[in-house]
Amino acid sequence: MESCSCCGPITMILACSGGSNVGQISNEIARRLTIDNKGVMFCLAGLGGDVEPLVDRTKSAERVLVIDGCPVACAKKTLERHGIEHEWLELTSLGIEKCPDLELDAAQVECAMNAAEEMLGA
Ligand code: SF4
Repeated sequence: MESCSCCGPITMILACSGGSNVGQISNEIARRLTIDNKGVMFCLAGLGGDVEPLVDRTKSAERVLVIDGCPVACAKKTLERHGIEHEWLELTSLGIEKCPDLELDAAQVECAMNAAEEMLGA
């Protein structure tokens, strides 16, 4: 598992978790990567809300993967506002079209998951 009790997770995963298919796919793959011990999903809203312990914890991560559903890049902009270095995955760049449907499409989730795993070298 990519974490230890003394210094916290090595790889943090922050998803935009937005109200669209791609936002929900970002959330789903962050959740699955965590379950698969490929990183640890963390609380993007805490960074948006300037919650200091959560900002500090994110800054202490060795690696941060940010997953945004679309090029509006809400999560990426949140990390940039705090000056936190990160790698960025944007799901429409994979050919997944953004729509308001919140039902997850298994093939799109698989596509996004593969891209995230490739970025993590997992
Ligand atoms: S990046 Fe796109 S999908 Fe995600 S919260 Fe922002 S607007 Fe919504």
